[in-house]
This record gives sequence, C-alpha cells and structure tokens, in this order.
Amino acid sequence: MKIAAVASQLYQIPPTVSWEDATHRVANLEFIVTRITTDSGIVGVGFAYTTGIGGSAILALIDDYCGAMLIGRDPRQIERLWSFLHGQLHRSGTGGINTLALSAIDIALWDITAKSLGTPLHQLLGARRDSIPTYGSGIDLFLSKDELVAEVEGWLAEGHNAVKVKIGRDTAEDDLDRLLAVRKLIGPRRRLFVDANQRWSVPECMTRLQALSVVDIGWIEEPLHAEDIRGHADLRNLTRLPIALGESLYTRHQFADYLQANAVDFVQADVCRVGGISEWMKIANLAAAFHRPMAPHYLSEISVSVMCAIDNADILECVRGGSFTEMGALKSPLRMENGHAFPFDAPGHGVDFDDDRLAPYLIDPLTLRDRNLASAK
Ligand SMILES: [Mg+2]
Repeated sequence: MKIAAVASQLYQIPPTVSWEDATHRVANLEFIVTRITTDSGIVGVGFAYTTGIGGSAILALIDDYCGAMLIGRDPRQIERLWSFLHGQLHRSGTGGINTLALSAIDIALWDITAKSLGTPLHQLLGARRDSIPTYGSGIDLFLSKDELVAEVEGWLAEGHNAVKVKIGRDTAEDDLDRLLAVRKLIGPRRRLFVDANQRWSVPECMTRLQALSVVDIGWIEEPLHAEDIRGHADLRNLTRLPIALGESLYTRHQFADYLQANAVDFVQADVCRVGGISEWMKIANLAAAFHRPMAPHYLSEISVSVMCAIDNADILECVRGGSFTEMGALKSPLRMENGHAFPFDAPGHGVDFDDDRLAPYLIDPLTLRDRNLASAK
C-alpha cells in the first residue's frame, strides 16, 4: 500500500456555548481535517485543532511540506514516517504548530492501518478496557453562580460522576462561594476538579488554595505557568492537592522533565498537541513508569480509544460545547452511558466527519487574513 495524496481542509467553528477562563476567551475553534488517500482506495482521516491561532499555518505545513514527503510511502509504517517527519519539522521548532501538523498526519496513518486490518483503533492498540469514566468540564469562569450550578446539574443529568469548573475569579471568596455550591450539588462522593489556566504564581496560588481548603477538590489544574516545572514541584510539596497538567506541553521530553521533577500527579497530554496517537501512547507509558494516571485534555472522541488501550487511564474529559459530537460534526456520535464513554466499533478510529454539516464552516486559508482583519475592527 502506498500514499497517493494528502489534502487538508480548515474549518472555523464557534463552541456551542461561550468559553472563557482565567486567561482566555475562545470565540472560534479551528479544525484542520487531513485526508490521506492510498492506492488501495483506503482513505485515512486525521485532524488537529487550535483555539483560534495558527490553523492556516498548520494546514500549510501538512499540505505544502509534509504531503510531498509522504507520497509513495507505505502508510502502515507509522513509526518510520513519524520519526522522519518529526526530524524534518523539528528544524523549525520543537513543538506547537509542528506537532499539531504531525498529529493530523499520525491520526490519519493509524486510521488507514486500522481500516486495512478491519479493526477498531483501541483493539489495534491492545484494548485494556471496554469503556472509560467521564467528567463534565466547563470553560465557565464568566458564568454566574446560578448558571454554574445549572451547568453542573446538566452534567449530572447526562450521567457524569465527576465535574471540573474554572477558578481564578477576582477574589478567593468568589471562587469559594461557587465551589461550595457545586460541592453541595454533587454530594460528597463525586470528584470535583478545578482549573486555574496558569493564572497564578506560587505565593498567589498558596493564598488562594488556603481559602479553598474547606472544599474537597480532586485536583488543581494548571495553577502556574505551564513552563514553571520548579514552581509546580514546590507547590506540590507545599499543598496536599494533586496537580494536573499537560495540555500546554507538546513533547515527551517536557513530560519527562515534569515527571522527573515530581511536579505532576495527573498527566493531561492532548492527542493533537503532542504529535498524535503514536506520541500520546509513549507519554502514557512514560507516566505509567512513574505511577501517574492519564486524564487527557479535550478531544473525547479520539481520546476514548487511546484511554481504553492503556493501563494507567483515569478519566476522560468531556468539554461542554466543544466536542465533535456536540458541534454536530460527526456522522456517528460518541456513545456515552452511565458516566462512561465507549470507543467506536467501526474499523479505524471511528471519528467520521460529516462533510455536509461541516460545509458552512469551511474556510479558504487565502481569505483568512481578510476575515480576521474584518473581525478585529
Ligand atoms: Mg485545562
């Protein structure tokens, strides 16, 4: 089997609900959908995303540069192709846009390989379990307390047995008030996670966490700048709260540095940001060697398959307003029952985009500049 063509499309889609945390407001998500066509007729689908920055650059890296390097290659030699492309892309940076581009290709290669074998992705990766527990997750710092409680009620009605809300309002009292309301609603047994989106320094964080100490919290996510490994290690020594992070890390080496520094408890590698399924699995194994569980960032429809294939899976994030399923982007939605998500049964990874429903959001990269200029006015 040989690769015959590589072609990507860019979509700009607003989340179905407003998104705002302690450091960002997200107006549009960008999705880069890459199709790799083979001479056997099998087409693999890969994808990457951004929260609004860099989509056209990622598309150009894939189609203008990587495509030419892939034509004629065997798509089933995933490790060989990953290493080769990573070596080329690495000359222009260690992670970020490069690894996002690599992810779209890697995911498409796994899709081709699984389809060629007639097997679902999680089986190909060595299925460890049939489903994975989920949590409802909100980008919800701007919501009033009543709106926040209504959001959490919605997750409980959907069956989630754990929830995550944003913290980092202007005062600690405000954060505490909101968390007490959420804890009261979900009861003592369900897990409650909080996410500060890199808002604080170590002293600020210690002050804030002391104010929240009466609330039972499962983890504090991204309390500090994502590159402050030493700060996270210090914080971990100073507080009893487990630390979750990884959505802002892009290479296995960054995860290795965090693990070796004893600076993270829950590892939240993002399948698209780290370079795809191949790299995510390596990071999961690295975390397992340090006895740390995986709780990946976002992308529930692809994360469900990799989570069902590892030994150290903890819980799957379901971000309100941003899943492919909620945005109506898929022909078959992610199956969720009783607080668990189930991997797709179809051969391949099963993330089957509905082109007709996505058509209104298709963007010509050449017109993106005009569109961004117009929206900035
Ligand atoms: Mg987060």
